[in-house]
Amino acid sequence: MTEEYTEEEFKIAKKEMDQLVYESLKDKDVKPNVMFAKTSEILRALKLSKGMIKWARVNSLWPMQFGLACCAIELMGFGSARIDAERKGYLLFRGTPRQADVMVVAGWVTKSAVPEIKRLYEQMTEPRYVVAFGECATCGGPWFESYNIVRGIDQVLPVDVYVAGCPPKPENLFEALMKLQAKISGKIED
Ligand code: SF4
Repeated sequence: MTEEYTEEEFKIAKKEMDQLVYESLKDKDVKPNVMFAKTSEILRALKLSKGMIKWARVNSLWPMQFGLACCAIELMGFGSARIDAERKGYLLFRGTPRQADVMVVAGWVTKSAVPEIKRLYEQMTEPRYVVAFGECATCGGPWFESYNIVRGIDQVLPVDVYVAGCPPKPENLFEALMKLQAKISGKIED
């Protein structure tokens, strides 16, 4: 069973820990308050470098390795040397959602796949973005009247950029990426 601590015991433990930290750092050049800065100070520093963070975010988008149907073939084309997307900051496809911040929904979305797609989205790092690539991901495409196809991924996830076509070309995805970058940097609105 977990032992319960009283508030008083926590205060004593915190005091002892502070003393330990002070003792271990007093002979060093680094001042304790630099390493243990207050949250407000960290926020102030972040505000100063807000522009830098935005610049880094815009130019280092990490897409998830993920495809649903025929549009995914075009997604593979997008990853090829001919497109060379890295020159614009669209980096390597990541094999895990935890290392990705862009989901390109390429293909039709079946109702049975929705829970899995949602789970992948929720596992991605924040802030995260969604591109609806092709007619099927945008509105259900040729299957919009089918009993098992969702009429657009925007019924499930918030979409940032739509790409028209059946299938769209890899170049269209490149353009969509540039729109996404403009949106993240605040040059265009929703
Ligand atoms: S939009 Fe066309 S090419 Fe893309 S997944 Fe749908 S049917 Fe296939």
